[in-house]
Amino acid sequence: MSPPRPGAVVDSPLVSAVPVADLDELQAYAQSVAGCTRCRLAQGRTQVVFGAGNAHADLMFVGEAPGFHEDKQGLPFVGQAGKLLEKLLAQIGLQRNDVYIANVLMCRPPGNRDPQPDEIEACESHLFRKLELIEPKVVATLGNFATKLLSGRPLGITRVHGQEQRTTIGGRSVLLYPLYHPAAALYTPAMLKVLEADFARLPELLGGPAEPVAPPEPELRLVAAHEAAATEQLGLF
Ligand code: URA
Repeated sequence: MSPPRPGAVVDSPLVSAVPVADLDELQAYAQSVAGCTRCRLAQGRTQVVFGAGNAHADLMFVGEAPGFHEDKQGLPFVGQAGKLLEKLLAQIGLQRNDVYIANVLMCRPPGNRDPQPDEIEACESHLFRKLELIEPKVVATLGNFATKLLSGRPLGITRVHGQEQRTTIGGRSVLLYPLYHPAAALYTPAMLKVLEADFARLPELLGGPAEPVAPPEPELRLVAAHEAAATEQLGLF
């Protein structure tokens, strides 16, 4: 299966009618940030990797940052980690085009080094806007960076993987579901087993009852995330 183009919106038979304006808004947003220069990573990138998939998916994945192949192709998770992600999706009866995939950072850090706190801060409003426009029910965070940013807590992925938590993003209640990063699981069979077991719960989480919208607390959540980023040594696991 060929992956969708950057910022692509993909219609799937799983999806009900969604106003065309919402789809256009995501595309328009992708275009508006294609030349982003908010942080130093703009200098070394080939292109912005906005995200790709179903623009109104119930399930959205958030990884860390583009790597070599993602930077070249302009698409998230197209390297080895992406192949594993596709395999894990297939095990629960889903394809890439059924979900939306994005990253904490839209530009590749040099040598695939860890994202820096100021880069995360510069890029986070782009991620939050995507979440607002896509309105997923479940947000699966892949690894420490996405988990800490979106949970607003400093707890590492080893502690929290597989533990869903209700949170408010952009004034909407979403189920946050932290998972090990596929790149880490690629080289650690025991971690892969855990990732597969956690993945297997996704259909159940997606079928869960709708929750009422909780009052928005974006300021508090973002402040907590920044504090966590500043005080913690972040890593994949
Ligand atoms: N590819 C991505 O797009 N993101 C990651 O976090 C890792 C690989």
